[in-house]
Amino acid sequence: MRWLVLGFLVAVYVFETVVAILNQKHSRKPIPKNVIGVYDKKRYNKWLAYSLEGHRFNLIQQGFSLIVLFILLLGPFAILARWVSTWVTHAILQSLIFLGIYQTFMVCLGIPFGLYRTFSIEERYGFNRTTKTIFIRDAVVSYVVTLAVGGLLLGGIHALSLRFVDNLWMFAFVTWAILAVIMVLTVAFIGKWLMRLFNKFTPLPEGELRTRIEELGSALGFNVKAIFVMDASKRSTKSNAAFAGIGKTREVILFDTLLERMSDDEILAVLAHELGHAVHKDTWRLLARQIAVMALYAVGIGLILQTPGFFTAFGFPGVHFGFGFILFSILLEPISLLLGIPLNMLSRQDEYNADAFASEQTDARWMISALKALSRENLVNLNPHPLSVRLYYSHPPMSDRIGALL
Ligand SMILES: [Zn+2]
Repeated sequence: MRWLVLGFLVAVYVFETVVAILNQKHSRKPIPKNVIGVYDKKRYNKWLAYSLEGHRFNLIQQGFSLIVLFILLLGPFAILARWVSTWVTHAILQSLIFLGIYQTFMVCLGIPFGLYRTFSIEERYGFNRTTKTIFIRDAVVSYVVTLAVGGLLLGGIHALSLRFVDNLWMFAFVTWAILAVIMVLTVAFIGKWLMRLFNKFTPLPEGELRTRIEELGSALGFNVKAIFVMDASKRSTKSNAAFAGIGKTREVILFDTLLERMSDDEILAVLAHELGHAVHKDTWRLLARQIAVMALYAVGIGLILQTPGFFTAFGFPGVHFGFGFILFSILLEPISLLLGIPLNMLSRQDEYNADAFASEQTDARWMISALKALSRENLVNLNPHPLSVRLYYSHPPMSDRIGALL
């Protein structure tokens, strides 16, 4: 059992490394014709250097995390659990303290990597606008939120597993139902609230752009008050637009960096793309798919918690919820990689449909020029490896999106 889990861990790392290397090699091949003009020569060379550096850095960071986790599995996890149990008797508290210590340890190990990525790599390529103060504030806020939200969630699931200790299906069903409700609430409210913890949102200012957006929005029955500008520029120069909320709580978020760099025509096309997602009810369908996947995960946690062999193999006297959750996250990795293939395919299809909608409502030329501008500002890979696209891409590669609009 022990070598099975460790084997899984290493196999996933090796597989993902091979895909990353293939992807890196592929990006050096001649780029597709319809995106040739996106970067000028100088900027393209800059992109190649940026992507190679990011690629190497990722491999080092992931390799490092793998080694740490591997070592922890071989003994320290069991020792930590035993130590916690000497001074805490409550089973749920034991799990939470165990996971809290693990999480804190991993966050601390990740800090130097985060610092280097932001203040060295992103800085040198001119993306970074984060100050040390914002970096520290972000790290502290996300650490506290993770501990609070994770603690509540895992404490709740642990309580359920104790309540339905010999009824796997009842446990899986109740856990799934609760997670599904939380997911709906997250999409509708909590996600928006979390984004506001990190950023300032202001309504889109009056002016010609707003008037044009209002005209487009009202033609589609969309409340334009729900369009906000987010101060993304305080962290990064990268730009984007996104949709948050669902049904009546939905809102469009435009990064201020997008407003700085795009023409009104291009912004209108991007907005029409987002409205296309709303009209096609993509958020609802995405949510339904995620809730279906959640059912599988609930059964997975239940199965692990009912297999004492998983725990004794790693030096635990019996089932330990906290460690069970770590095992779950290791075994989940290959499963979510596989599930990602159909899920990302559906998501890429939604993107094509939203692009088509935007070009019908505005102008295909504006949409294409907006896509090119987004690629250029964010330095995206114009030539990803097809395997990488299949596994990870929720959005189609730029040249495919442009090709579909021509
Ligand atoms: Zn989209």
